[in-house]
Amino acid sequence: TSFEELNLTDELLKGIHQMNFRKPSKIQEKALPLLLINPPQNMIAQSQSGTGKTAAFSLNILSRVDISNPAPQALVLAPSRELARQILGVISHMGQFIEGLKTMAAVPDPSRRNQKLDAHILVGTPGTVMDQIRRRFIDPKHIQVLVLDEADNMLDQGGLGEQCTRVKSLLTGKFQTVLFSATFPDHVVAFAQKFAPNANVITL
Ligand code: AMP
Repeated sequence: TSFEELNLTDELLKGIHQMNFRKPSKIQEKALPLLLINPPQNMIAQSQSGTGKTAAFSLNILSRVDISNPAPQALVLAPSRELARQILGVISHMGQFIEGLKTMAAVPDPSRRNQKLDAHILVGTPGTVMDQIRRRFIDPKHIQVLVLDEADNMLDQGGLGEQCTRVKSLLTGKFQTVLFSATFPDHVVAFAQKFAPNANVITL
């Protein structure tokens, strides 16, 4: 398959071209057709860093945001600030031709503690996102896509899995849940099935 066959917008195809991606990687080929189905379906995907997983979930998000609605519509949770910033970089790079698109990091930042996070797409660490929703600096009502990246890594760090679950419980509308993990030991499988019920499951 090619990116052209995925019914992506011209703006996104331009962004992909700008990144020098010629054709979808294996994980993108498997995940994107399922991610882009309407009405949206949950996904649990096994994939390591280096396979193109970031672009896979980012293209789904970028295909689903409605720029005319300024409220946050996609939330990506990552286990570290560095990873959150990397993901944000990929999303803004791929989305650079979408006029008016706003993205923001939701990571601990003392200078920004009392600032509303007004962006279509937010990428952050679970504790900060939870805190910002509770303090009403993130409006969770219009979130359509929730992505959890590196779930296994998240569950290895005490409390992060639980914080992801809390964030999810603070979302009020209808949303698609997408979970990526490099490995699936029993406790990650159990968590994933609860976190993303009735998901399409893909492995590499
Ligand atoms: P990730 O698995 O998200 O950490 O991505 C690994 C690397 O693969 C990144 O440097 C991406 O820029 C690159 N990449 C992702 N998708 C593609 C693609 N379809 N073609 C070429 N490179 C890609």
